[in-house]
Amino acid sequence: MPFSMVTYSRRFKRANIYSDGRCNFRCRGCSYNLNPPTKASGPALLTVERVKEVLTELDVERVHFLGGEPTLNPDLAEVARFAHKELGLFTKIGHSNGSNMPPDHIDAVSVSIKAFDDALHREYTGVSNAPVLANFKTMYQRGIQVDASSVFIPEFIDLGEIERIVRFIASLDPEIPYHITGYVPVPGAPWRAPTREEVEEAADVARRYLAHVTFSALTQDDLLHLRERDVRYQSVRVA
Ligand code: SF4
Repeated sequence: MPFSMVTYSRRFKRANIYSDGRCNFRCRGCSYNLNPPTKASGPALLTVERVKEVLTELDVERVHFLGGEPTLNPDLAEVARFAHKELGLFTKIGHSNGSNMPPDHIDAVSVSIKAFDDALHREYTGVSNAPVLANFKTMYQRGIQVDASSVFIPEFIDLGEIERIVRFIASLDPEIPYHITGYVPVPGAPWRAPTREEVEEAADVARRYLAHVTFSALTQDDLLHLRERDVRYQSVRVA
């Protein structure tokens, strides 16, 4: 499957390689319902050879794979091998739903754990979380650098559910970094956005179990203008 776009951050010496935005989950609160990645990146046209060429020309230390669910792209394995083995770069899946194990030559994975309760997970994503929890554990045990995140949704993925998720993570290692994102309402979903104080309270619950907890409480406007407002997202398109 071709890739859709490569962006580059000179400041972080990082290349971001996007797949075509496809995902095997149907999260009711997916932020792509606000801003589909394919809208910004266009159709997937970049071949593996072209992506390798671009990486070779850039002054990079790390490569992040993004864009829907990156592990669905069968060409991820070859680009990761090239970046890691031939160029000596740090390779990370910047956002994964955890439904698949990453291929070899991936150093780190950021896994979004939507829910610990399986019924809740099915209700939110359409699928079971059994593979997600099992894969997260396997990745950790294999020495892949994992971090996790969850979306805090008032009266749905609430404090109790956040606590169940962090207890699971802490049972592997309380040093695993964890980020809580305040839900940003998307069209067709019934939930409200939490207040900043509510997200902070969820982070306080997580801090009882984990040593490295961060949170964000963005508005819809913040989310749509992340590139302008947050230096971590300020990359230029190079292919
Ligand atoms: S896993 Fe991520 S990209 Fe896929 S539907 Fe859920 S929120 Fe959207």
